[in-house]
Amino acid sequence: MLRLDQLKLNLDQDESALWDKAARLLRIPRSEIRSLQVLRRAVDARDGLCLVYTAAVEVADQARVLRRCRDRRVSVYEPRVYSLPAPVPAPEIRPVVVGAGPAGLFAALVLTRCGARPILLERGQPTEQRIRDVNAFWSGGPLLTESNVQFGEGGAGAFSDGKLNTGTRDVRHRWILEQMAACGAPASILVDAKPHVGTDKLHITLQNLRRELLEGGAEIRFGHRLAGLHLENGAVTAVDAAADGQVYTLPARQVILALGHSARDTFEMLYAAGVPMEPKPFAVGVRIEHRQADMDAAQYKTCAGHPALGAASYKLACHLANGRSAFSFCVCPGGQVVAAASELNQVVTNGMSEYARDGENINGALLVNVGPEDFGSSHPLAGIAFQRQLERDAFTLGGGNYCAPVQRVEDFLAGRPSTGPGKVLPSYRPGVVYTDLHRCLPPFVADAISQALPLLGRRLAGYDQPDALLTAVESRSSSPVRIPRDENGQCAVRGLWPCGEGAGYAGGILSAAADGIRAAEQILNIIRRDFT
Ligand SMILES: Cc1cc2nc3c(=O)[nH]c(=O)nc-3n(C[C@H](O)[C@H](O)[C@H](O)COP(=O)(O)OP(=O)(O)OC[C@H]3O[C@@H](n4cnc5c(N)ncnc54)[C@H](O)[C@@H]3O)c2cc1C
Repeated sequence: MLRLDQLKLNLDQDESALWDKAARLLRIPRSEIRSLQVLRRAVDARDGLCLVYTAAVEVADQARVLRRCRDRRVSVYEPRVYSLPAPVPAPEIRPVVVGAGPAGLFAALVLTRCGARPILLERGQPTEQRIRDVNAFWSGGPLLTESNVQFGEGGAGAFSDGKLNTGTRDVRHRWILEQMAACGAPASILVDAKPHVGTDKLHITLQNLRRELLEGGAEIRFGHRLAGLHLENGAVTAVDAAADGQVYTLPARQVILALGHSARDTFEMLYAAGVPMEPKPFAVGVRIEHRQADMDAAQYKTCAGHPALGAASYKLACHLANGRSAFSFCVCPGGQVVAAASELNQVVTNGMSEYARDGENINGALLVNVGPEDFGSSHPLAGIAFQRQLERDAFTLGGGNYCAPVQRVEDFLAGRPSTGPGKVLPSYRPGVVYTDLHRCLPPFVADAISQALPLLGRRLAGYDQPDALLTAVESRSSSPVRIPRDENGQCAVRGLWPCGEGAGYAGGILSAAADGIRAAEQILNIIRRDFT
């Protein structure tokens, strides 16, 4: 097979035109192409809008074609394929995976496929119940501290845009995408340069993944929270789990901690039990919301709305005079701002979209880096205290009933409270309060956002438009702690494998899932070694 890069189609061309493009590039008749598979599809906005493809092409006589066609866009196709570790005999004491987010689910999937029959403890609820709980909260009902946007099957990303791009390269990524597609995620994630699943399709995917785990011999315990550790000679021998108001002990030698960034009580428990931790920088700020049509027009000009393009997204960053930087994060085209708290009396924002990305607004976090020097203490858990304070202040400013404080950009920059919306209507539920966000943001964060808005507006027309809406507070961009690990991924307490976002080593769905798989691979090595 040959790999062909940079095959360009205009927006109105059908993908079948790739065959002619490929034949022309290879300087062969189209009839000599036996098959053509799209590997990657991207929108190129640099040089007039077009779609750029990478394809794998099978030709009748590859050696002859390669001899004749010397073009740097043509190479031999050498796919990198992830191979699952070899199966192991089922261990007498089953490995325990804590957390059913991407890291825990994919760790459990690899353990299951290899015969290790893990037990998966998840404090939250299965997808079906979780959807009901979250919708009730967004409709003005109570916040359930064990079943919300952070906790439950699928983890923090279950109510999200389901973006699956990552800045890192790992052979496991492709395998993860394939498993998700096999479980009901859209097939487009296998080719799109910026793949996304959307909350609606993620929920289907999660339920099918659960079925696959159960059929493979995994045991999943929803509503079971890791509540304690039993250690002997620096190694774990059992864990305590809390469920239905009772605590029970589960023997365990290998425990994957895939806790996510919001398991604050669990971090506190682990720290008290002697698990080393250190504070980690993260970023805080606000969600900014625009009308999708304005962002489409700013980026796609006259082609805005073309079905081949979908809803436009953006990625922005700038350095500020005070030495900090500000950047966009987790942008959700055609989506909504979501209430993402997991503790009582706190307001936390985030964003999600459906697969169609067809909502009225686009939202994204506008964040400023913060580090231990901002936390007011050198304690390893000081970042958590910093987050909690921000979230309590946002709760109070929002009126104390989980409504979020919002402000128009023009008012924020002028330092006066907003009294109502302009042309951008807020999507946050259960509701919003128009106010002055300076009253809940630390001055250095508010100052950085004020500096950043006009700078970013110069990069993307309309980003700092007067009616764009800021919603506070975006405080859970990544984990505020890191659990140090050795080169194999094990922490100083032997038998504990911190991974994913909560361990401080991964960020985002795909990288957390890959990190979970790496932990599973190490545990499989140990199980295999113990049997020989
Ligand atoms: C609203 C939202 C939108 C997002 N959008 C995107 C996106 O589009 N693309 C992207 O790449 N990333 C996105 N993210 C980030 C992404 O979701 C996380 O990076 C990812 O989920 C981290 O995976 P994880 O498995 O490490 O942790 P998590 O997904 O946080 O999962 C941890 C799980 O552990 C469970 N848990 C915690 N403590 C315990 C305990 N003591 N006992 C038992 N279970 C426990 C939790 O209930 C949770 O289910 C989004 C996050 C949010 C909140």
